[in-house]
Amino acid sequence: MQKLLVMAIMLVLATPGCLDSFRESLVSCDNINGGCRYEILRGNEYSRLHIEVNYVTGNSPDSDALNLLKQRIKEVTDKSTVTVSQSSFGSTDNSYTLEEILALESSERTEFKSGNTFVVHILYLNGEYSDNNQALGIAYSGTSFVLFKEKIEDAAFLLISSKDIEKAVIVHEFGHLLGLVNNGYQSPHDHEDPDHPHHSNNEESVMYWAIESQDIANQLDGEPPNNFDSYDLDDLSLMKQGKL
Ligand SMILES: [Zn+2]
Repeated sequence: MQKLLVMAIMLVLATPGCLDSFRESLVSCDNINGGCRYEILRGNEYSRLHIEVNYVTGNSPDSDALNLLKQRIKEVTDKSTVTVSQSSFGSTDNSYTLEEILALESSERTEFKSGNTFVVHILYLNGEYSDNNQALGIAYSGTSFVLFKEKIEDAAFLLISSKDIEKAVIVHEFGHLLGLVNNGYQSPHDHEDPDHPHHSNNEESVMYWAIESQDIANQLDGEPPNNFDSYDLDDLSLMKQGKL
């Protein structure tokens, strides 16, 4: 670490003209939602993707939802391998602020990008998000998102199971890590909902805003979509090619 720092300082001193790009590489993509889209989508820098899940006891992820997420990752990224690990922790809280969510990630998360493996972190919490009790999930950094398992269970209705909702929400939040929609890039397609920034205006896209809202039942006619639409997929493809 010490050695790296010394080298870093020397590099800054040696190449003042490159300071900006050097700073950029020091500021990790992890800090910006959508900021890690290239690292996640492409296979050249990180050929493998690992998903670490930490869940509050009793709020474990649905295995079909995790499998679907793995499938979607294989479909839209160039990763050769996608793996998952999960572990539980106790919590006495039932309403979480963003600060508390960040603190939980930092106390529970054990895996970070290293070598050829990029790591995405998912928190599964009980209770609700204190700033918006309608939230089923939130993507809050470049590599992390949270799902509110009890809220997802509460959002189930007549013919739509909580499992179907969880499958949609987990792919939706992952989509935000990829920058969808128009987060850090500008799509050639007109598919961002002006009333819900960074969401699709197509209710058949998993990036439709209501997917992550408890109001999902009132906003959708049938089963929630759990796949990207053609515009989402085109954006992702253009990003991978370096055209966006
Ligand atoms: Zn969203």
